[in-house]
Amino acid sequence: MRSFEYTSARSVDEALAGIGPDAKFLAGGTNLVDLMKGDVEKPARLVDISALPLTDIAATPAGGVRIGAMVRNSDCASHPLIRERYPLLSQALLAGASPQLRNMASTGGNLMQRTRCYYFYDTAFDRCNKRVPGSGCAALEGYNRIHAILGASNQCVATHPSDMAVALAALDAMVEVLGRSGARRIPATQFHRLPGDTPHLDTNIEPDELIVAVELPPNGFAQRSHYLKVRDRASYAFALVSVAAALEMDGNTVRTARIAMGGVAHKPWRAMEAESALVGRRLDAAAIERAADASVSGARPLHDNAFKVALAKRSVARALEVAGGAA
Ligand code: SF4
Repeated sequence: MRSFEYTSARSVDEALAGIGPDAKFLAGGTNLVDLMKGDVEKPARLVDISALPLTDIAATPAGGVRIGAMVRNSDCASHPLIRERYPLLSQALLAGASPQLRNMASTGGNLMQRTRCYYFYDTAFDRCNKRVPGSGCAALEGYNRIHAILGASNQCVATHPSDMAVALAALDAMVEVLGRSGARRIPATQFHRLPGDTPHLDTNIEPDELIVAVELPPNGFAQRSHYLKVRDRASYAFALVSVAAALEMDGNTVRTARIAMGGVAHKPWRAMEAESALVGRRLDAAAIERAADASVSGARPLHDNAFKVALAKRSVARALEVAGGAA
């Protein structure tokens, strides 16, 4: 591990004053420190933001909930407001990592975590456009079982690893960020990027901006939602495919549907076509099958991950069945 300067910020202003091109914010450190140990991330300075007073979870006047960026994943998952109004988010958080990691990982840090593509982590491989822009992509011709089937480019086929972010995309959350030029809100569906020609950029946040909160809008999904995660081990493994499904129903007819998938793309993948296939329909086997088919529309599997297309379809169908109360 290379040497670096360390400062601890006591306020958001202090944190923003300390950040710069050679610096990184340090929250729970559950991903960044690993990347520094592996010589993938090489910041000259760390600005520790773990003491910032961004730890509240509070109801908003509109009927939603605002989650401070430094709320730990375990605290968020178990908070009564989250469990009551957004059980989908609680389920997604509890599906991620291990209890020890969830006790350290923060809401903001979870959004900023980086892909677990093995070629990105292993600096013995020269070719990784995300780690070294312009160097190529070892995964394209290498072993790509865990990689993307949707939205990838010929520059990068990595997937985003977060479970929490998949639920936030389904729930139409807003990410509040603050920079030296002011505050702005980014829809969770637009926070992460597809790789295109710039796979080294994971998100649409600027380097000098800090996530201060995530806001969830009010909705009627609490009674009918489900987070399904399919992985190689029963715990402490990243998703091969995950699905966040949420429904509002008028009797047996779907009024509103939200479907987001993890493990299939460079960002949480909102399956809008599948959502549209459900709205106004009875939630029966035929409608679920149509939505499952639509969820993988445009999929382009690689040589080792064609199984993900069938797995994604079956996972969407299963998540909708459970959310709808049929299972
Ligand atoms: Fe790097 Fe992306 Fe290729 Fe993985 S898939 S080796 S992260 S460029």
